[in-house]
Amino acid sequence: KSILDILDDYPWFDNNMLATAKWVSEYYLCSLAEAMRLFIPGHTGIKTEKYYQAPDSADLEQAAVVLASKPEEYRTVLSYIYENGPVNLTHLRKLTGNIDVILKFFLQRNLIVPVNTVTKRGRPSYKTIVNLAVSREVAAHAEQTLLKTKPAQRRLLAELLYHQQLDTTQIRRLNISQNAVKQLIATGLITPRSVPVIRNSYSKTVTNYQNIMLTSEQQAALSLIIPAIKDSHQKSFLIHGVTGSGKTQVYIEAVAAARQLGRQAIILVPEIALTSQIVSRFRAAFGDDIVVMHSKLSVGERHDAWRRLRAGEAGIVIGARSALFAPVSNLGIIIIDEEHEFTYKQEESPRYHAREVALIRAKLSGSIVILGSATPAIETYYEALTGKHTLITMQKRVDDAPMPPVTVVDMREELAKGRRSVISEALQEMLTQVLARKEQAVILLNRRGYSTFVLCRECGHVLKCRHCDIALVYHASANTLRCHYCQERHAVPDTCPECGSRYIRYFGTGTEKVEEALATLFPAARIVRMDQDTTGAKMAHDKILSAFAAGDYDILLGTQMVAKGHDIPNVTAVGIISADTALNLPDFRAAEKTFSLLTQAAGRAGRGVKAGRVIMQTYNPEHYAITAGADHNYQGFYQSEIQFRHQLNYPPYTKLIKITVQSGNEAGVHHSASQLAAQLNQLLTATGTLIIGPFPASINKIKDIFRVNIIIKTHDLSGARKCISALGIANRKDIIIDIDPVNV
Ligand code: ADP
Ligand code: ZN
Ligand code: ZN
Repeated sequence: KSILDILDDYPWFDNNMLATAKWVSEYYLCSLAEAMRLFIPGHTGIKTEKYYQAPDSADLEQAAVVLASKPEEYRTVLSYIYENGPVNLTHLRKLTGNIDVILKFFLQRNLIVPVNTVTKRGRPSYKTIVNLAVSREVAAHAEQTLLKTKPAQRRLLAELLYHQQLDTTQIRRLNISQNAVKQLIATGLITPRSVPVIRNSYSKTVTNYQNIMLTSEQQAALSLIIPAIKDSHQKSFLIHGVTGSGKTQVYIEAVAAARQLGRQAIILVPEIALTSQIVSRFRAAFGDDIVVMHSKLSVGERHDAWRRLRAGEAGIVIGARSALFAPVSNLGIIIIDEEHEFTYKQEESPRYHAREVALIRAKLSGSIVILGSATPAIETYYEALTGKHTLITMQKRVDDAPMPPVTVVDMREELAKGRRSVISEALQEMLTQVLARKEQAVILLNRRGYSTFVLCRECGHVLKCRHCDIALVYHASANTLRCHYCQERHAVPDTCPECGSRYIRYFGTGTEKVEEALATLFPAARIVRMDQDTTGAKMAHDKILSAFAAGDYDILLGTQMVAKGHDIPNVTAVGIISADTALNLPDFRAAEKTFSLLTQAAGRAGRGVKAGRVIMQTYNPEHYAITAGADHNYQGFYQSEIQFRHQLNYPPYTKLIKITVQSGNEAGVHHSASQLAAQLNQLLTATGTLIIGPFPASINKIKDIFRVNIIIKTHDLSGARKCISALGIANRKDIIIDIDPVNV
């Protein structure tokens, strides 16, 4: 075929990228194409569009004869194509609603011919800039003499003598018409030039970078890290540092060292919307050497970021997990902040974990990896203790500020005292004091909505989603029942759909109910709620957090997003409404998830000169995740948790594979899962591998699809993987294979 156009001026992959993609496809059992797509920015590519034009042999007179008996619109369309061609369908549709019939008629009679035109998407957009084309003296003279009678052109020239250059937007603001611009260009006094527009929503996030004295813990960390970058040592480090110990500053210094050597840096954060503080600190240090990449960017912004990195115009990328696949060819350092966060695992194919892939990409490119966290994942800490990563501990907060004291409130005792409010007496008292001192508080409840389930008191029926096996959540603000899995909304019924009784009651507590309780207790307080329902818009988190940081609110209330990524000196109190939310999930990592959220939330208090306090409300005050969380005791938590993992043979002592069989047919899904489990049992028993299930997933139906799980627990992951490949189930639509799953 003939070549229509050249798409790219450079190859998209270098050897390291290709090798990383190959590793991903082998480890996670996806196709190589799927793995390679990770390196390509979203929605870039080509789109073919049909255009039409007059054939070379076009003969208007003959056409007029053919069209004589046809309605007027035939002639209109034809002359439009002949005069403007090639034109596309979008233009032609504006002429008449009958266009498909007319085009068919023309094509059959060779009155027009189709042309394929390739348009590229995700390409840079351009703006026009005008400059003087002559010396200032010549221009000044022309302005005084030649242009006396042309006021608009004269004004434009005067502005250019003052500003050197102007772009289209600036010219429009000066109320100078495009026509005047064209005429002035025609005189040869000025000249236009096209430049790419950099689309970047972060360009205004800048803070001031001051030179600071590193603490001794920071110096010790860097004395290990910097030599490894210099020697291309392919080393990995785990920085276990309490919140506020200065880890971010260590990242900045390490990246600076890499940049001085001309090496590039990838910095991953768990969720960019919650981490714009880290972006602004990096921007303060590195300015335009940084690009930010994440899914809420527009296609154009994403592509510009990609292109600037690819062209070497920027050397540092900050982003969520997908930034790991940024096109940097001289990688020196990868940093994964809050490495324990589960957002680093992709929940669709390829189901990769950014931490694992980072270690591989770094190894292939002679780069180091820094994993940082106040509460490292159990697996990561275990790996550090057993020598896979160099462990760096930072125990002190910068300036030696103490960790805030935590009070655990046993909610069973509150009930015994006859207090039914979701806010305990102790929490109410703490908030009263905070408000009186004009300080600020953060309140965490990891469940959104008003009530978390609706029940008939007469027959015990719980209102469930039609499509999902899950209770509907009541949202008071919109007065609807919502399914948090398929997003369907239902009107609130007056009577029970099962028995017709009117005794429908609301149970459980979500953020909306807490907001109402706070407003009742503290009518004068300014309260802002931050959860998925209030943060739909682009940069919405930033707006809420900056308003809170600026003192526009007294209390910030919300789901786990209030526990992350901010450092506000006036926050002196943190209240956790229910420390148990995650503890009761059927997940072997329930304790780990609980401990890390509690620690993170508690870490928001007392980050300035004022001391902080934390209150945790719970029904399980003796659980080790709660007691260790209250004592800021990671080591204690780790010891209990690793023992539990050892006893039950969970990771890090084994590897897990989760196989989910799914289908709209409930009986069918159980049948194929049983068959599959039997096959696996036959193939895998010899290696001492355990196959658990099949058993229904914890929510056994989502969006009308039934799901049944099989878990493989093994010491021989590659053997199990080979067996799965041999069974040929890796590419089946009804089967999901998840290597190292994070939700079990
Ligand atoms: P972490 O990332 O461990 O939570 P940060 O790096 O954010 O800690 O540091 C906490 C606070 O201390 C920040 O406001 C930061 O600007 C400040 N900070 C960090 N290192 C130093 C230092 N060496 N001297 C003074 N202030 C510092
Ligand atoms: Zn009922
Ligand atoms: Zn649903």
